[in-house]
Amino acid sequence: MTDITLAVLDMAGTTVSDDGVVEQSFADAYDATPVLHGFGTRDAVRAYAKATMGQSKIEVFGELTSSYDDAVVANLAFEKAFADLVASGACTPLPGAVETITRLRDSGIAVVLTTGFSKQTQDALIDSLGWGDLVDLALCPADAGRGRPFPDLNLTALIRSRTLGVQNMLVAGDTSTDMLSATRAGAAYAVGVLSGAHDEELLRANGATDILAGVAGIPALLGLDG
Ligand SMILES: [Mg+2]
Repeated sequence: MTDITLAVLDMAGTTVSDDGVVEQSFADAYDATPVLHGFGTRDAVRAYAKATMGQSKIEVFGELTSSYDDAVVANLAFEKAFADLVASGACTPLPGAVETITRLRDSGIAVVLTTGFSKQTQDALIDSLGWGDLVDLALCPADAGRGRPFPDLNLTALIRSRTLGVQNMLVAGDTSTDMLSATRAGAAYAVGVLSGAHDEELLRANGATDILAGVAGIPALLGLDG
């Protein structure tokens, strides 16, 4: 038996296929509004999106623009582009994600989904996947205070799920910021998955305790049967 009673799982790149959808949405936002042009080329913005994957998007746009108002404009353009891609079916469950979430919950482990998107975008993504009843809870930065790399999302998941302590929490994600947020929250497991943005070296350098090909490996990692 495992001591883990809470699994906090990232969305894009961890449980949901990314396939460049987030990066593409940054590029589309670049084309839609000049406020991002001061940062550099379209490719430069795209590369920055990849490097900062997992962070709160409004924070990232704050770094790409020179004022809060411009960050809001860029974020809205990003959200519209992403919503259009989601509506066209661009995001799908990653292999084994649904089965893993179901397996964990059947074992008495609460499952909370986290993201760097706004609530509106997170809700649209969950609706498009038909995941409304699949998980215990879904949290975005606005629900928690600060987004990743801060620990707030994980600690909010712990409080909201009435989990006993951080020693009972597993956090899984595909980015360096997911691993930082996990270790800063004191999670027993900071599981880096290779199904998304960042490689093993970067995940380990930021505190990954375990590396898996994808979330489908989590039940075995926890010693759950079947
Ligand atoms: Mg991710």
